[in-house]
Amino acid sequence: MSRAYNFCAGPATLPEPVLRQARDEMLDWRGTGMSVMEMSHRSDEFVEIAETAEKDLRELAGISEDYSVLFMQGGASSQFATIPLNLLGDKGCADYINTGIWSKKAIAEASRYADVNVAASSEDSGFTTVPLQETWHTRADAAYLHYTPNETIGGLEYDFIPDSGAVPLVADMSSTMLSRPLDISKFGLIYAGAQKNIGPSGLVVVIVRKDLLGKARAETPTMMNYQVIADNGSMYNTPATYSWYLAGLVFKWLKEQGGVGAMEQLNRRKSAKLYDFIDRNDFYANPIDPRFRSWMNVPFTLADDRLNGDFLQGAEARGLLNLKGHRSVGGMRASIYNAMPEAGVDALIDYMAGFAKEHG
Ligand SMILES: *Cc1c(COP(=O)(O)O)cnc(C)c1O
Repeated sequence: MSRAYNFCAGPATLPEPVLRQARDEMLDWRGTGMSVMEMSHRSDEFVEIAETAEKDLRELAGISEDYSVLFMQGGASSQFATIPLNLLGDKGCADYINTGIWSKKAIAEASRYADVNVAASSEDSGFTTVPLQETWHTRADAAYLHYTPNETIGGLEYDFIPDSGAVPLVADMSSTMLSRPLDISKFGLIYAGAQKNIGPSGLVVVIVRKDLLGKARAETPTMMNYQVIADNGSMYNTPATYSWYLAGLVFKWLKEQGGVGAMEQLNRRKSAKLYDFIDRNDFYANPIDPRFRSWMNVPFTLADDRLNGDFLQGAEARGLLNLKGHRSVGGMRASIYNAMPEAGVDALIDYMAGFAKEHG
């Protein structure tokens, strides 16, 4: 069977050349007679793999030496607790912006450790828009300001970077990291679960400004202490070696594609095509304020929910997989991360047009 177009929100499709290379290197990585999976994380070979991945990520994302890059475990969700434990310091309070399900999860977890102030929320709108910064009630004495630049489930994405003044800005970039150029210097901390735009699940990349290290609460588990992880080159314990290696292959692939600038053009084009089609076709609808529509996750509904099953079945028969929307919002969702080729979006639109004609 040939490769299908996989629109899953995460774990998401990976670049085919990356998977091919991983396959070719599976049994014998460059004459070592071992799979990367079987290597000691302390071996020269693996240390080189790990360091190259970090170097390539720094180059791709424009990460200066003012920041540590950590390859941690437990996915993005573990960071919901790790962040307050490390960044609260002697402040005790943090500000959060609530724009959807991932924001809410981050808020709920942080509330176990911190006095959390939800400085703004778009819940009243059903999370179809981003509250403008003029309306936020942030606190100057907050330890940090947390937001979710792309709400993966709702399909809602900020088109601006909040100005947090002297308060460190913290961003959950799980589903938007490396999708376009970004000014890292505006952030105190960025974290991203790997399984959307970076690599396999379980791995989480944390980019943290070095002056924010070393403030973890005394009870912070060692494995969650950024300072410890940074001091040990993300090898305090056995890291997720194979995921790290695959992330490195993705970074190389991204560089070959022309980097995040080329991704921006591609992602802008892919998402514009899909939204334009949805807007022009009465059979489909997307509820998000057009200004804040996500480039990465495109939710849409059919004119009649009773056709959802038929739609999904027909899509699957054509190799268009995982279009079912999140259980909390229903409808459909097409996730079109970096690794989704434009041809995949074209094939989806083609199918949607035919389906609407037949059932509309
Ligand atoms: C997927 C996702 C998460 C959760 O990632 P896990 O690795 O499953 O913990 C958190 N935040 C956002 C924005 C996501 O897209």
